Amino acid sequence: MLNRIRAMSAPTTHTPMMQQYLAIKREYPETLVFYRMGDFYELFFTDAEKAARLLDITLTQRGASAGNPIKMAGVPYHALEGYLAKLVKLGESVAICEQIGDPATSKGPVERRVVRVVTPGTLTDAGLVPDRQDNLLLSLCADRHRAGLAWLNLASGTLKLSETPLGNLASELERIRPAEILLGSEAALESAFAQTRLPSWHFDAAAGAKALGEQFGVATLDGLGADDLTLCHAAAGALLGYAQKTQGQQLQHVQRLQVERASDFILMDAATRRNLELTETLRGESSPTLLSTLDTCMTTMGSRLLRAWLHHPVRAQDAAQARHGAVAALVPCHAATRTQLKGTADVERIAARIALRSVRPRELAGLRDALKKLDGIRSSWHASEDPLLQTLFAQLAPLPSLQALLQAVIAEEPAALVREGGIIAPGFDTELDELRGLTTNAGDYLIALEAREKERTQIPNLRVEYNRVHGYYIEITNSHAAKVPDDYRRRQTLKNAERYITPELKAFEDKALSAEAKALAREKELYEQLLSDLQAHVPALQTVARAVAQADVLATFAERAHALGWVQPVLQPLPGIHIDAGCHPVVAGQIDNFIPNGLKLDGARKMLIVTGPNMGGKSTYMRQTALIALLAYCGSFVPASAASLGPLDRIYTRIGAADDLAQGRSTFMVEMTESAAILNGATEQSLVLMDEVGRGTSTFDGLALAWAIARALAQSNQSYTLFATHYFELTQLAAELPQVANVHLDAVEHGSKIVFMHAVQEGPASKSYGLQVAQLAGVPGSVVRAARKKLQGLEEDAARHLPQRDLFGSSTAMPEEASPEPVLEHDALRRLMEARPDELTPRQALELVYELCGFVRQ
Ligand code: ADP
Repeated sequence: MLNRIRAMSAPTTHTPMMQQYLAIKREYPETLVFYRMGDFYELFFTDAEKAARLLDITLTQRGASAGNPIKMAGVPYHALEGYLAKLVKLGESVAICEQIGDPATSKGPVERRVVRVVTPGTLTDAGLVPDRQDNLLLSLCADRHRAGLAWLNLASGTLKLSETPLGNLASELERIRPAEILLGSEAALESAFAQTRLPSWHFDAAAGAKALGEQFGVATLDGLGADDLTLCHAAAGALLGYAQKTQGQQLQHVQRLQVERASDFILMDAATRRNLELTETLRGESSPTLLSTLDTCMTTMGSRLLRAWLHHPVRAQDAAQARHGAVAALVPCHAATRTQLKGTADVERIAARIALRSVRPRELAGLRDALKKLDGIRSSWHASEDPLLQTLFAQLAPLPSLQALLQAVIAEEPAALVREGGIIAPGFDTELDELRGLTTNAGDYLIALEAREKERTQIPNLRVEYNRVHGYYIEITNSHAAKVPDDYRRRQTLKNAERYITPELKAFEDKALSAEAKALAREKELYEQLLSDLQAHVPALQTVARAVAQADVLATFAERAHALGWVQPVLQPLPGIHIDAGCHPVVAGQIDNFIPNGLKLDGARKMLIVTGPNMGGKSTYMRQTALIALLAYCGSFVPASAASLGPLDRIYTRIGAADDLAQGRSTFMVEMTESAAILNGATEQSLVLMDEVGRGTSTFDGLALAWAIARALAQSNQSYTLFATHYFELTQLAAELPQVANVHLDAVEHGSKIVFMHAVQEGPASKSYGLQVAQLAGVPGSVVRAARKKLQGLEEDAARHLPQRDLFGSSTAMPEEASPEPVLEHDALRRLMEARPDELTPRQALELVYELCGFVRQ
């Protein structure tokens, strides 16, 4: 009776193991906890449900704790890496909780502890982190005006700081492209990057400054140029604490602190990076892009640096020129340099894993072999007097003592994992060699023993053997049972035979079996010692890694220049962009007969109105201009017969945005938001590409806006502007403003068909060819014919009403006779002339745009 009552009333306390689990889980409420149980990592309760969904593993229920069934899902320990990779890709974090107590001696559940936390931004494991892309953890702390950013590349040991006005935050994030963003629990951020929330008190400026001082071993941050960046200190403090916690240790290899100012680089906002398809196509694929065209790098370090350089064109001309010089010097010898670079292990990440003591034996063998290559790499440009190559030459010193250490300790071809053994080179440690000798010489010993025993017992078919269950034994068939000596002890009885052990064989067995275990333990010990000895070499390895990466990218630029016929650009202090016979670096590689086109912009000629038929090549021409400028400032040669560029501070593009419905914005809203940002931000050193502005609204609205925006860019911003439009009326601007010129993409009509010439010519296009393009696209003939008829009607109507004042007060009949300032007759334009774009916030600019629309709609 009593038993039944007990069974019916639900227990209210958890089992001891669940208590232990829940205590650990409390520490990691937002993180999936992988709780080690024997050969599995188990997840419980909501973690189990989530993991079952994300990983497609079975959700089960076992037993009960506190009266409720326990939901569970588990993964085998040896398959951990694959599951982790999947989870971090989905932006999840995982706390790995291991058994650290000894099950044999512990009362209650074995002691367990979280040994590391795997998060998207703190990955360093070879199997988890992408090879050819940096993995960055960024922390963000903002006040009402500015944001302080701190971001860490755990694999290279570099921490960077930057402070930025809130208005530029989105483009800064797009430049850095972190894998994970840390921010306070109350902060708000709209961003597609994975976010991790920390308690707000983690972001404390004073504590952060102290943590930075300790990490980089300095009393003040003055010398690092980071003294006044208090928001960054707060961000960095939270970041260092978080990163250390995930790794379960100090981050001794994080030794480089850099302060970046947004003004160090040519600014590009998110839309521009996307539109120019630097590292991703508009559809989100990795090819064909500028990176995929250029990346023939020989090492993963080179590929990562190239990607970073393409996102960071430098503003300082001398920095870009130094790279051009090195590329020019490498053109004749790039093949030799690249042959030497080929197969070089990822020294940067190996160095980080040494520091984190997670490096694998094979990686150290790779490092040993990489160090042997350094001399060959640098000798390939040995005679060059180029200053950058000379610097790299010095940095690629082959580190002989480290080489000797690795050579002596690590086996020629070590096993993948320490627990497999066979990782320490023979001849390095006498104790290990002896232990190994015992196991490897066992075969000879056993043969000798068998011969001796046969002789002694006169049993011809006596055999000495071994199996996993019974160990070593002497097998004697029943027919010879009478001859078995007294010192044989029976070990096992079979149908036709008996198996025996002798004192001598037992002694050998003890020694051999323990020798194997002892050898493995000794190897582990020696490996741990090696890891400790290697710590001192980490900073030198980081320098080598950076030098290898640079040499690889520069040699890749040289190879691309050679293979694709690119030329060294000239960067000079005078304003202007001059390109002779330029090509689009990506499109030119994809079609057979790419027509090169030139471009000339300077202080007096700042804007080109680009007209021509759809499909004529306008977008390609505009993008190639931006890409050539970008390549030049990244340090690459460029696809042109000659190019000369003055200083550039920003590149903006407004090119065919799709609806951003996810954020509830229509095409037109996106277009105007981007236009507002350009009008507010572009300076006379900016390059602005505007493609078909005003398409998203009614014809007159659109035309009026396009016109007003073009005029503002030419007159107020005075930026270098390429303005492609199908509003033919805009070509009149060239007559009004001396800094504006017309160019067009040529096409010729063949009967009713059209042939695109893809050649840029001075002057406006003669007509728009819309109907021919429609026909080409397969619009049915009857529809095209109806359109042609309607067009004729419209043109006749227009002719009947001439001459008249058009929308802007200029005479459409005789544009060349337009008075210099007729435009001010319109309210919209008067309002626009009064506007001071530099002083407008993006919101005010957008309001202005709406106001302007209101005027022209009246
Ligand atoms: P638009 O912007 O005028 O509509 P695009 O720039 O999109 O035209 O070009 C349309 C197509 O024409 C491109 O996909 C490309 O294949 C081809 N094209 C563009 N420029 C050139 C060129 N310079 N030489 C050869 N083909 C070109």
